[in-house]
Amino acid sequence: MTNSETLFSRSQQIIPGGVNSPVRAFKGVGGTPVFIERAQGAYIFDTDGKQYIDYVGSWGPMILGHNHPAILDAVLNTAQKGLSFGAPTPLEIDLAELVCELVPSIEMVRMVSSGTEATMSAIRLARGYTKRDKIIKFEGCYHGHSDSLLVKAGSGALTLGQPSSPGVPEDFAKHTLTCEYNNLQSVKEAFEQYPNDIACLIIEPVAGNMNCIPPKPAFLAGLRELCNQYSTVFIIDEVMTGFRVALGGAQHYYGVTPDLTTLGKVIGGGMPVGAFGGKKEIMQYIAPTGPVYQAGTLSGNPIAMSAGLACLNELKKAGNEQKLACLTQKLAEGLKTLAQKHQVPFVVNYVGGMFGLFFTDQAEVSSYQQAMQCDVEKFKIFFHKMLEQGVYLAPSAFEAGFMSLAHNDEDIDRTLAAADIAFAALK
Ligand code: PMP
Repeated sequence: MTNSETLFSRSQQIIPGGVNSPVRAFKGVGGTPVFIERAQGAYIFDTDGKQYIDYVGSWGPMILGHNHPAILDAVLNTAQKGLSFGAPTPLEIDLAELVCELVPSIEMVRMVSSGTEATMSAIRLARGYTKRDKIIKFEGCYHGHSDSLLVKAGSGALTLGQPSSPGVPEDFAKHTLTCEYNNLQSVKEAFEQYPNDIACLIIEPVAGNMNCIPPKPAFLAGLRELCNQYSTVFIIDEVMTGFRVALGGAQHYYGVTPDLTTLGKVIGGGMPVGAFGGKKEIMQYIAPTGPVYQAGTLSGNPIAMSAGLACLNELKKAGNEQKLACLTQKLAEGLKTLAQKHQVPFVVNYVGGMFGLFFTDQAEVSSYQQAMQCDVEKFKIFFHKMLEQGVYLAPSAFEAGFMSLAHNDEDIDRTLAAADIAFAALK
């Protein structure tokens, strides 16, 4: 038995499913999850001492690679001064200023402790500000696990939402309308049906929770126009894409300006952080300046703030944004060439530092329906062949992959050599 197998049987006795977040359990790919001992740079090491090139990066935060010295120093130095005060600190102003500098649509920002908290709070704020109840989200987009957002589409885009998890009251879910990603017409119809009821529209600007699906040209701009027309708050959820698709986020990359932005992952450099921010007029509507309540014991935690500051300061150095995109392109194009060589039907989507692999004979994957038609069995075989050879991909066919600045050309070459063997196994 490997150490991971022993640990997994132990953890399943005491932690539901043996994990503290479901996708970690390898349910999507089968087999035993790899238990991690430590990580350094582009690599993670499991409890059996095996090294993997890591394309999960803690699901996005580790954009500089693991254990980056700038972040480690910041965390250790700050920790020596105390772990949490529940009172304001200079560090949180520094991080807020840096976030506003990098993402100019954010005029004011509030720190929280996770992406889920960020989107949940932004939606409450939008509802309070507009005095409306309904929200629009998109099929296949994930924004954390709060009640309003755990909703699947009914039989058609315009039917009222159904809870996608027991425990979410239908009375909450009915306020969530689900439209089709990359289908502006479905959004127009929702607005036409409820012209005065929609508080906000929330979207992943590049969908990263149904694998990786970039927006079609003019889709985001079209959403912006509809939100203007119906006085609806436009929320771009950059928890995953922020500072990764581009330094200024996907909103900069695609040239679209939201009213509110939600952030997470990268702004904490690996510590638990989220944030939501945007137009001053809307942000001042939260407590204590406004009536919409939102709070957090550990919000703005000094260690998390210093880790986030170190991460963003490093990331914004000249050349890093381009380097991350080039590494991603090299990997994605390399995989495409290998799939062709082995005649495996395959599509790869990528933008900035994120990518997605689809085993499919469709010419492109730009919708939820197309993503769902991909061959999950082929992905499972590919995933395990890569894992065997020391390449750690997201253990699900429906999650995006993440590049880091610690990856180098040699890591990509090693990954492609492993993929050559993995594709061959699919024939
Ligand atoms: N929004 C998006 C776009 C996400 O990808 C995620 C998590 N993957 C969340 C929100 C929720 O963030 P967290 O897991 O930190 O609560």
